Amino acid sequence: MRLAEAGSALAIALFLAGPAAAFCRTTTKAAPADFSPTPDAPCFTAGLPLYWKSACVGFTMQQAGSRQISFDGAVQALTAGFARWRGASCPAVAGASAVSVEVRYLGPVTCDKVEYNNDTRIGNANVIIFRDDDWPHDDPNNTLALTTVTYNPATGELYDADMEINTKEHKFTVSDPVPADGVDFGSAITHEAGHFLGLAHSVDEHATMFARYAPGATTMRNLASDDVAGICSAYGPDATRSTGSGVIEASACDPTPRHGFASACGVPVSSGCTAAPTDRAPGPWLLGVAAAAIAAARVRARRAAKP
Ligand SMILES: [Zn+2]
Repeated sequence: MRLAEAGSALAIALFLAGPAAAFCRTTTKAAPADFSPTPDAPCFTAGLPLYWKSACVGFTMQQAGSRQISFDGAVQALTAGFARWRGASCPAVAGASAVSVEVRYLGPVTCDKVEYNNDTRIGNANVIIFRDDDWPHDDPNNTLALTTVTYNPATGELYDADMEINTKEHKFTVSDPVPADGVDFGSAITHEAGHFLGLAHSVDEHATMFARYAPGATTMRNLASDDVAGICSAYGPDATRSTGSGVIEASACDPTPRHGFASACGVPVSSGCTAAPTDRAPGPWLLGVAAAAIAAARVRARRAAKP
């Protein structure tokens, strides 16, 4: 019965989104470098879709914050970004229409690393880190921000998500108007919040999950119908999760990170495991890591074109 209900809800969501539903879920397999989405085949679908099982997920902010944005302003913007996904209105299932996942702020932490500790003695935090002084990634794509997720490759269940903001190379703002060559922090982090929740890029250029941000734009702050269809299909209003093995019940609200909350980084147990996890295959811990980023469209090209 529940399966049938969820199936019809998804069908309705797809119908409402129009024939060109373009949203995608991040999966347990990294898309190959030559994967090229098209309107007819917008998603890389190998592997299992990622999802948070709990009705509540916590996030934290690295205590140093950024010199570009006040700490409180950043927390407010991040909270608002996650709330946009939570606030999406889904086709009703048994009278409920709210997205069934909520992301809550758990306070500042000292850890400034993207990491997941598979150890109950250490604990974890889903941390947002500003990289004011160093962007520690190969960056051919002019990356604005990068969200790295850790999951169980056998199920797609998300265990950890960390977000890095490239404040070294880009100028972010939380106030209006956004300068023509600036980045709207609210737009960037609403996009990254989608990755945090397990969504991948959409080919719908109006979607918050579109891969490219145009400098000065603020439209990604607001979810498009394609984004709403995506979050509703992943976190159904009947408190279900659509997974690779069917629809399952969400677990009760508990924003505590897996293995417990930790403010400090864990002691490294293997070399360089967390530095550049893009496309890393599931390692000896049987955990996969996927990284998804928002890239700045044409920022450098525009600057270069100026006299
Ligand atoms: Zn992205």
